Amino acid sequence: MKIPKSHPRRVSLTTREKIAGGVKKGITSLAGLAAHGRGEAFDYLIGEKTTKSAEKSIEAAAASLLLAKNPVISVNGNTTALVPKELIQLSRLLNAKLEVNIFHPSKHRELKIKNHLLKNGAKEVLLPDKDTRIKYLESNRKYVNPDGILKADVVFVPLEDGDRTEALIKNKKKVIVVDLNPLSRSARKATITIVDNITRAVPLLIKTIKQYKRFNEIRLQKTIKGYNHKKILKEALKEINKNLSKDK
Ligand code: ATP
Repeated sequence: MKIPKSHPRRVSLTTREKIAGGVKKGITSLAGLAAHGRGEAFDYLIGEKTTKSAEKSIEAAAASLLLAKNPVISVNGNTTALVPKELIQLSRLLNAKLEVNIFHPSKHRELKIKNHLLKNGAKEVLLPDKDTRIKYLESNRKYVNPDGILKADVVFVPLEDGDRTEALIKNKKKVIVVDLNPLSRSARKATITIVDNITRAVPLLIKTIKQYKRFNEIRLQKTIKGYNHKKILKEALKEINKNLSKDK
């Protein structure tokens, strides 16, 4: 669908088209469409912009990813449809592996996701291995790649589900999520939560990592120490409250 340049909701509609395109290509699941809708609603509430608190989370995420020994980027059908090139750029910058991990079991869709990323320029995309699993998780997301998430110390998992965030943490990994809903279990359970749209958060994360690359370890550690998870989530809720009570 052609969306006129002057349309006031152009960005949101273009993003929606990308997700719908993901479904048509067999990358995104129908459930992923519903999850996107929930995201859109929360984006409206936070004002469809990167808030100051999300910027602080992005800074902590950049520092944490730069200090990681084995960072891994977990990709699913939504993230691959929305920001494939950006995820590949992030993986190059950090020398981090890209690994497919989806909730609704489908080997076919895993391969579609992998091929879409390869087509967009990824050199390597790991798939979950049916003989390798992380503990404390029952869903399909327990299967991981032995060279990827299994070994990772920091996992970047944009658009996560709460169970898996919790399981990854119990498996002693640091988990960075991007979730527009500050009330979700993933947002609450993660080590660092970026309450922002993935389409805005990943480009900004890339920019911040490029700046932080010249910082030494002490400086990066300081940035991480300055991150206060509870406070960040509270600030996101405050932002929503502020927008809800605005006089129009
Ligand atoms: P949880 O299990 O963590 O309580 P959930 O059941 O909402 O959360 P899912 O349905 O797996 O989890 O994930 C969808 C989440 O992703 C929602 O919280 C939604 O707000 C968020 N989301 C959807 N689209 C985007 C997007 N483009 N950017 C950031 N977050 C998004």
